[in-house]
Amino acid sequence: MTIILKNISPWGRAVTDLAVSDGRIVSEAPAGAQVIDGGGAIALPGLVDAHGHIDKTLLGMGWRPFTAAAGVQSMIANERRLLSEIADFSPARQSARVVDRMVARGTTHCRTHVDIGPDIGLAHFHGVAETRDAVRDRMDMQIVAFPQTGVMTRPGTLELLDRACAEGADAIGGLDPIGIDQDPKGQLDGLFAIADRHGVEVDIHLHDRGEVGAVTLDMIHERTKALGLKGRVAVSHAFCLGSVPDDRLAGLIGKLLDQDIAIMTHGPSGDTPFPPVRRLHDAGVRLFTGSDGIRDSWGPLNSGDMLQRAFIVAYRNGFRRDEDIALTLDMATTGGAQVMGAAGYGLDPDCTADLVLVDAETPAEAVVEHPPRRLVMKRGRVVAENGRLTIEPAG
Ligand SMILES: [Zn+2]
Repeated sequence: MTIILKNISPWGRAVTDLAVSDGRIVSEAPAGAQVIDGGGAIALPGLVDAHGHIDKTLLGMGWRPFTAAAGVQSMIANERRLLSEIADFSPARQSARVVDRMVARGTTHCRTHVDIGPDIGLAHFHGVAETRDAVRDRMDMQIVAFPQTGVMTRPGTLELLDRACAEGADAIGGLDPIGIDQDPKGQLDGLFAIADRHGVEVDIHLHDRGEVGAVTLDMIHERTKALGLKGRVAVSHAFCLGSVPDDRLAGLIGKLLDQDIAIMTHGPSGDTPFPPVRRLHDAGVRLFTGSDGIRDSWGPLNSGDMLQRAFIVAYRNGFRRDEDIALTLDMATTGGAQVMGAAGYGLDPDCTADLVLVDAETPAEAVVEHPPRRLVMKRGRVVAENGRLTIEPAG
């Protein structure tokens, strides 16, 4: 299949044509190509949602008002109760529904944390793995084996995480080794041993704030270094980076750089502290973002639109200048792709033809307006137009 996208503006640069053949971007279009007029739209590589929880969305199951009390522990308890009460809850079907939504909004790559624990075993993992296979033609997906209910406080969890990695999880996750488990050494030693054994990446949820989170980052750095996992570890949320004194932050940045540890922030709501994006970027820390839970028991506001997510991160950081706003778009594109190790990502010749057209004059305007995507292409095939799928839905 050969297509010429005429009249498009890669990353908001000079208007040009872009040719696609056999799923790749090519420098010269072969004869007989189908011509699509881009109408001067900005072309971006496919959006990357590199932190999600698509196994437990309640999308398509009616409007679900938020019912949990405050605090991570009560949100977890509320979720377990709610999911156990839905007799026909299917992680495979639900994750496929999220994928449909993401594709329509221009997302071509996602990394999702999938719940694993003694109560549900590997059921969610198997369901999402089924979806990962079923949607390969439209989404590159990575699965993180995620201990949502804790590790050391839930005997049997480490064994389940190990099995998930043996069965094809791409990364091992973790959760507040101090706040949830009160055993940082136990949790982190267990997780890093699994990463070492299976050669998988590490991506740890760290909500613990201030010095509690900072000490955990120290311990993550120590283990990353000891096991030679430089460049293969990420920390998600890392609220502590927005809630420690300045000299402590400087020291932590040094450790992140030393082991090339990437940081995910999705621009949390309310008065939650979060990593300072501009400062971390300027220091050279790799940053990425994601939707987190979409329409699940943790709250209804996340939509799965990565341009809107970039807007939220920009808003929370108080960004106004184009170059600052564009930084959040980098997090939702190249930053996430880098963390996922997406080969051939970008708009240059020979890159995989995963791209999205957005009606905007500049990358900053694309973030600010986040209009319905004009066109979405995955491996050279048009999969969505004007915000709607043009292929058979998966969910
Ligand atoms: Zn999360």
